[in-house]
Amino acid sequence: MAKSEVPISALAMQIVQTALKPNCSVSELAQLASTDPGFGMRLLSVINSAAYALPNKVSDVAQASALLGVDGMKNIALGLSMSQMAPIGPDGEVLLANSLRRAVAARLLAQRMGLSKLSDECFTAGLFLETGLLALANSNLKLAGEVARWPAEARPVHERLVGTTPHPVRGAELARAWNLSEHTTQAIACHHDEEPPEVPVARVAWAAERMAAVFEGGSPETATANAIAAAAKLRVPSSAVTELLERLPQLVSDAAAGFERQVGEQVSYEDLKLQANQKLVELNQNFQSMVHRLERLLAEKEQLIQEKDELHANLEAANKRLAQIASTDGLTGLFNHRAFQDSLKRDLHRAKRSGNPLSIILFDVDHFKRFNDTWGHQAGDAVLQALGKLLLATLRQGDVPARYGGEEFVIILPDTPLDGAYILAERLRILISKLRIKMGENTLEVTSSFGLAQVVGRQEHDSAQLVEAADKALYAAKRAGRNRVVRADRPFPEPTG
Ligand code: GH3
Ligand code: MG
Ligand code: MG
Repeated sequence: MAKSEVPISALAMQIVQTALKPNCSVSELAQLASTDPGFGMRLLSVINSAAYALPNKVSDVAQASALLGVDGMKNIALGLSMSQMAPIGPDGEVLLANSLRRAVAARLLAQRMGLSKLSDECFTAGLFLETGLLALANSNLKLAGEVARWPAEARPVHERLVGTTPHPVRGAELARAWNLSEHTTQAIACHHDEEPPEVPVARVAWAAERMAAVFEGGSPETATANAIAAAAKLRVPSSAVTELLERLPQLVSDAAAGFERQVGEQVSYEDLKLQANQKLVELNQNFQSMVHRLERLLAEKEQLIQEKDELHANLEAANKRLAQIASTDGLTGLFNHRAFQDSLKRDLHRAKRSGNPLSIILFDVDHFKRFNDTWGHQAGDAVLQALGKLLLATLRQGDVPARYGGEEFVIILPDTPLDGAYILAERLRILISKLRIKMGENTLEVTSSFGLAQVVGRQEHDSAQLVEAADKALYAAKRAGRNRVVRADRPFPEPTG
């Protein structure tokens, strides 16, 4: 996701980045804040809002900075930039109210749990829980507004249903892109998890999510029961939850005022409970069961998609393997005759285009019939395997060795003139003659005869002609006494017998 998808105020970003420097000082931050009077004003208004619950009013930025410290300033800068992300208008108001509700709930919870040192960070984490939705609002305000009006618990399901990235995922991605703290990122990523995360800030935010949900649709009774159950996991008693819920709406209004934003009228917890008549409860029960059904269906669908992908991957691997088997010689692991022919045609075509020379080396084990007759077919096979290994170990990448058939091998050498092929063939000839193959008590050896041929130039090349020329040269090598290399461009030695 691009960083630019959500505009974050340049100054706020600069403050965050300054604050993230390891040796950043408070005065450096205050200096930065005072360069923008508007920002300074908003900073003071946030600090002096009821959401911050400071004992005394703060009157200037320097004092605020000293009071808040680096982390506090950073959190406020983040909060201000977050509130800028919420669009103006009814959808934006719902989105902003939801974010502030989580922020305030997280701060109150942290204080209630004796985590006062973390309360700023919890506020920020709460504020950013719905960042993914704010980002969505930037590209599709209507959809984001729709999701934000769904009961909190059901939002990720709704997002998956309409095919958009669930906001915990999207939000965590953004948090990472902005270098927000690892704790805040985790809080965002996990706030819809079944169980609370381990990290304290993320844990508090997770419970704050469930406090906020009480005010955001569905049955307040069920939601309150959920909030109490969540708080219990953090060892917060239910009396504290009720007290917190009673304070929440007013604090949301205050926080919005601090950010100089409208969030509409906030229904008190008392009124909320009164509104919940029997019909609503029934409606809600139907709704809950529908959400659970949807969740199951979605999970099934995702499972099927995953299985399909796995099947596809398996099929692809099987096809690859099949193609490999079809082109490989079982004994030596080299290309077989057919694969050699295909490869030669391709390489000749390339040679024509580039005009570079291409050579082939054809070689055949000498007196192999006798060898088999003496030592047995298995020993013969062992020799052929050893030759395959030797070729793979000796040749360059790009050279293509293949088993031409029986005890005959062929090597395609792209971009190689006959002189180069000759040097390689001589080297192979010597290596083969020095091969020692252990068979029980016996150490066996073989020699081979080689025939070379090449094509040069940009004209059409005929693969059959090239192989025939190499074969003739090989035949000449046999007739000249074996264990030697003959090139197709030199007069073939006269037969010696
Ligand atoms: P030359 O020096 O003229 O090549 O003599 P040669 O005996 O090698 O020639 P020939 O073509 O008459 O015999 C080839 C022998 O190679 C026949 C067969 O016994 C052996 N051979 C061919 N394919 C295989 C194989 O896959 N495994 C084994 N063990 N031997 C094979
Ligand atoms: Mg032979
Ligand atoms: Mg042969």
